[in-house]
Amino acid sequence: MNTYNLLWQRILAELELTFSEETFSEVFSQLSTVHKFANDHVYVLAPSEFIKNRISRLYLSKINDLALKLHGSPIRFKFVTESEIVPEETLISPERNLSLKYRPGNLNATYTFDNFVVGKSNMFAFRMAMKVADQPGAVANPLYIFGDVGLGKTHLMQAIGNYILDQDINKKVLYVKADGFIEDFANLLKREQMDDFNAKYRDIDILLVDDIQIMGGATKTQMEFFKLFDVLYGQNKQIVITSDKPASELKNIMTRLTSRFEVGLTVDIQVPDLEHRIEILKRKLQSESSDIHDIPNEVLDFIASSFVTNIRELEGALKRVLFYCLTNNLDMTIESANEALEPLLKTKRKSDSLNENNYDKIQSIVSDFYQITLEDLIGKKRHSKYILPRHIAMYIIKTKYNIPYKTIGSLFGDRDHSTVLAACEKIDNDLKQDPSLRLAVDTINKKIDTFNKK
Ligand code: ADP
Ligand code: MG
Repeated sequence: MNTYNLLWQRILAELELTFSEETFSEVFSQLSTVHKFANDHVYVLAPSEFIKNRISRLYLSKINDLALKLHGSPIRFKFVTESEIVPEETLISPERNLSLKYRPGNLNATYTFDNFVVGKSNMFAFRMAMKVADQPGAVANPLYIFGDVGLGKTHLMQAIGNYILDQDINKKVLYVKADGFIEDFANLLKREQMDDFNAKYRDIDILLVDDIQIMGGATKTQMEFFKLFDVLYGQNKQIVITSDKPASELKNIMTRLTSRFEVGLTVDIQVPDLEHRIEILKRKLQSESSDIHDIPNEVLDFIASSFVTNIRELEGALKRVLFYCLTNNLDMTIESANEALEPLLKTKRKSDSLNENNYDKIQSIVSDFYQITLEDLIGKKRHSKYILPRHIAMYIIKTKYNIPYKTIGSLFGDRDHSTVLAACEKIDNDLKQDPSLRLAVDTINKKIDTFNKK
């Protein structure tokens, strides 16, 4: 019996213990066959549409919870009826799959729209991704998603793939990282198996190419990808691309391709604001398989304020705090979170900052620029003539050295981290609308850079 069949039998055994005899025999007793495993889903054959719907509506989350518990890693179940299954011969033949290392299970089922937390920074990207998933090939082709590392590009892209497969299990969704594409192309070219290459990449419905910028140096691969793009595009097959830069910035490394990317729709993902980061932490807490589902708000706030630019790091920090408090039997407080995160924060500080004295220097450059005293810059006076320079100094220190808000607060007369955070976000916002502020900040930054070079 294969692993998934075995897993299903174990789940059935648990369900039998959970439900009454009547429910069990009515709903679950005829579900013995696992049809296949693909895309991180185990497909089980349901005897009728009625049973399929009933299970999907009422029991699926229970089944998936049991699967996680028994299997140890996330795996999802899906129920299908005989009529939904296309005979295997019409799909890519199995031998071919093997020789090509074609893994239809190349999507990670945990990346879904449901668990993608939406905020200002990713709202548009999210909406467009949903539209594309709803009507592949029809609304925006290609969809080009760009943003810095760790902000959710891969998650969103795979959510599109998972959603499409949820609607129709026979859709062929191919996810590749651009380096995987380069490797496949080089291998098959060497072995003169271009037919196989084309079979793998052209006989699909949806192509998801992650981190396209990696293809920058590979001109031959780019030409092949260009051909592939045109073939798929011509057949209205949906293409989704991610990158760390907008297409316009890739022009010098992939000229021909960027013009293709620009025919579709470009969306970007920005750094989430504090509120959004806290929401992400809350959602991760709910899904964590640990016993702790509740952390005091101030601790969440502390974590979210310390990890700003990368959601992967933010998640990592949360896990670290949970683990630290659990194993050391500590209450969740800012102090214990700080202890847990100290090693991470220390390396962050080291790599980001030069030395403490530079903070003093930034403060004095800013106060010189605005012709106020250092004392007033740091002090408590609430006159606007002091507040703006104070906020600018905080903002510059944050952007240059990325130290925790709390630490910055300590440089400004022990202000608390939420004050500093609010100041930084305000300046960040105002800069977008106020050219004279932009000019001032640029000038100050130049002065600081000149000083640092000395
Ligand atoms: P990228 O591809 O942009 O480098 P990823 O998609 O790999 O980033 O995201 C990094 C991590 O952060 C993943 O674990 C992902 O699930 C998580 N993540 C990113 N954005 C969100 C979001 N909006 N909501 C929930 N989790 C997110
Ligand atoms: Mg990625």
